[in-house]
Amino acid sequence: MSNSKRRVVVAIDGPAGAGKSTIARRLAARLNFTYIDTGAMYRAVALWAAREGKPWDDMLVMEQMARAAKIGLESQPVARVTLNGEDVTDAIREPAIAQGASKVSALAGVRRALVDKQRELASRVSVVMEGRDIGTVVFPDADVKIFLDAETDVRADRRVRDLAEKSPPPPPKERVLAELNERDHRDRTRAEAPLMQAPDAVLVDSTGLGIEEVEERILKIIRDKTSNGKELA
Ligand code: C5P
Repeated sequence: MSNSKRRVVVAIDGPAGAGKSTIARRLAARLNFTYIDTGAMYRAVALWAAREGKPWDDMLVMEQMARAAKIGLESQPVARVTLNGEDVTDAIREPAIAQGASKVSALAGVRRALVDKQRELASRVSVVMEGRDIGTVVFPDADVKIFLDAETDVRADRRVRDLAEKSPPPPPKERVLAELNERDHRDRTRAEAPLMQAPDAVLVDSTGLGIEEVEERILKIIRDKTSNGKELA
């Protein structure tokens, strides 16, 4: 097989509100890769559990639900997430479900189930996959690893804007900041696949940068790191 047909994995990790989803989706469209939002998968499991009245800390039940969940991820023409055939794109974005996702994602069994699905999704196509552990656990051999970060205050502002766009008026920033800090703390300190920068990941700090600047910066890193970079985009 020629080098240009090689399957490429671009891993983008980082804390909440760093801009991973926006950037990963744009990069995937640009490179003609498949965009995979792994956070949406943890959110879908948390949503399903909440609807079924199952506690987010019940390891066995959560693992069973994570294995049984039929999660569909579409990125074109718009990002859409389905759970067992139902469109849950908006429902999984509720702040309570974000906290639930952070709780169920701390369970080893849930991670095993979803990491299996993530590897399967990327088994045949080139992907831009974003999450917390893509470069450390899911694809430790990823061709390109980016750790996308930004100052906490900036991440909270972005989250406020996102939430306000979906359902005005904007939520109080203090509450958004507190929720973001709580989730990041849980994600960074858990025993299973904690959020951290892989030793070989490139740190990109998006504080003070516009979307286009971040996109161009990462695209250059991808081109530099992949031998077939010029043919990618
Ligand atoms: O990225 P997003 O904010 O949608 O992720 C929701 C939650 O899912 C995160 O706070 C984190 O706890 C969990 N997650 C994870 N590993 C991933 C992606 C998300 O633990 N690869």
